[in-house]
Amino acid sequence: MSDADRSTVGAPPRPIDCGIKGLCPQCGARTLFAGVLRFAERCPACGLSIAGFNVGDGPAALLVLAWGAIVVALAIVVELSFSPPWWLHVLLWVPLSTAAIVWSLRVAKGWLLAAEYRHEAGEGRLAP
Ligand SMILES: [Zn+2]
Repeated sequence: MSDADRSTVGAPPRPIDCGIKGLCPQCGARTLFAGVLRFAERCPACGLSIAGFNVGDGPAALLVLAWGAIVVALAIVVELSFSPPWWLHVLLWVPLSTAAIVWSLRVAKGWLLAAEYRHEAGEGRLAP
């Protein structure tokens, strides 16, 4: 990311808004994602190089663990309360888990990328 990338007018959006709405952390256009979970290479509105950021796999691991615990707790409550057949558990929890993880992963990745942009985070470099 160069200094020219940061030459926009107006205040940048909040990192959480970037995650929820898919906003570019520099200009606020809805251009952060090129797919459901894939970042765009570059913001077409302001030219910010989004590919230069690296959010890693941290959000995925944390969200799978958190949603796994929530869904298992809910499945136990449903089983003990209603005793539905096994296929109803599959029909209920597989789509719900998938949707919750994908949506929250999109929000977490967008938020983390915007936080990296705001704090000018980057890989470590040796001082000259
Ligand atoms: Zn932009």
